[in-house]
Amino acid sequence: MEISLAVSAQLLRKAFNIVLTTHIHPDGDALGSLLALYFYLVSTGKCIRLLLDDDIPASLAFLPGTEEIQKLPETPETADLLVVLDASDAERIGKVKHMVKAPILNIDHHISNTKYADYLYLDSAAAATGEIIMQLLELEKASITKEMATCLFTAIATDCGFFRYANTSPNALRYAADLVEYGAKPSKIAECLDTRPLAAIKVLPKILETLEIRELSATGQVAFLTVMPSLLQELNDDTEGLINYPRNIAGVEIAVLLKVVNDNVIRVSLRSKITDVSRVALTFGGGGHARAAGCTINGPVDLVKDQLISAIEKLSKNDGRSG
Ligand code: 5GP
Ligand code: MN
Ligand code: MN
Repeated sequence: MEISLAVSAQLLRKAFNIVLTTHIHPDGDALGSLLALYFYLVSTGKCIRLLLDDDIPASLAFLPGTEEIQKLPETPETADLLVVLDASDAERIGKVKHMVKAPILNIDHHISNTKYADYLYLDSAAAATGEIIMQLLELEKASITKEMATCLFTAIATDCGFFRYANTSPNALRYAADLVEYGAKPSKIAECLDTRPLAAIKVLPKILETLEIRELSATGQVAFLTVMPSLLQELNDDTEGLINYPRNIAGVEIAVLLKVVNDNVIRVSLRSKITDVSRVALTFGGGGHARAAGCTINGPVDLVKDQLISAIEKLSKNDGRSG
C-alpha cells in the first residue's frame, strides 16, 4: 500500500522494536539514510537494530555509526517493523527478508520500485533517499546532530554525483546547505569518499584497456568498461567512480560497467545522457533511475554485452528514447 510521509512517520512512532536495513552493495545513499534514521530513532528511546546482508565498503566506513551495523541472525527474528531504505525490490536486501518477520515499510526514490512492501513511501522526484529522511526528520521536528548531518549530506551528495548529475534539484541543494549548517563538512566527506588504496590506482591501466565502443543507429555510442574477477578482487569490490571513464567520453550516450564476478555472473552498471536505462535494467530483473541503473546478468561477458545491446536497441525502437 502506498502511503504518505506523515503516515510513514506515524508507523515509526507506533513501533518500538524496529529493524532497519538497506540494499546490498550499499552506496552512500543507502548507508547514509540508514544511519541517519538510526540515530534519530535511537534518540526517541526505541529498540533499533541495523542489519545488512553485505560488507561495508571501505570508502564508506568513515560514516558515524557503521560499527552498529550487524550481520544477519542465525534464526529468523520478529520485530514490530522492518524499515527498508533505498531498495527498489525485495531481492536487493538479500536474506534480511527471510530473517526478519515483520511488516515492511519501504522508503525509496527509485522509479523502478516493484511495490513489494506492506507500506511504501515512494518519491521518485527525490534526488536521494537521504532527501526523504531529511523531510521525515523535519516533519518530526527532530534535532539534527552533526552525525546525522554527515550521514545525510553523504547520502544526498553521492546520489547526485556531488551536485553534478541531472537529479541535482533546488531541494537537494537546499537540504545540503541546511546539513552543512547542522555540521556536515563537505570537503572532509569528499576526501573520505575519494581516498583509494594505492592498489586501486595501479589496476586502472588494466581496466581502461578493456574499453570498447559500439555504435548503435538508434541511440548512438555505447561504451563498455569491464572489470575482470581478479581485478575486482584487488579492488575489494569497490568500483565506485569507474563508470565515469566511459561516461565522460565525448559522443558516448550510454556507459556500461561490467563487473565480472565469475565466468557466469556479471554485475552491470548503466549510465546515460538521454536514454531511460532503468528500463534496460528492468529487462534483466534490475532497476534504478532513468539515467543511472543496474542489474545482474548471468552468462559470459561477451554474450552479456550482446544481450545489453539488443535490449537497448529493442527499447529504443519500441518507443524511442525518454528523458
Ligand atoms: P550502481 O550502478 O551505482 O550500482 O547503481 C545505479 C542505480 O541502479 C542505483 O540507484 C541502484 O540502486 C540501482 N541498481 C543497481 N543495481 C541494481 C540491481 O541489481 N537491482 C535494482 N533493482 N537496482 C539496481
Ligand atoms: Mn542506493
Ligand atoms: Mn538512492
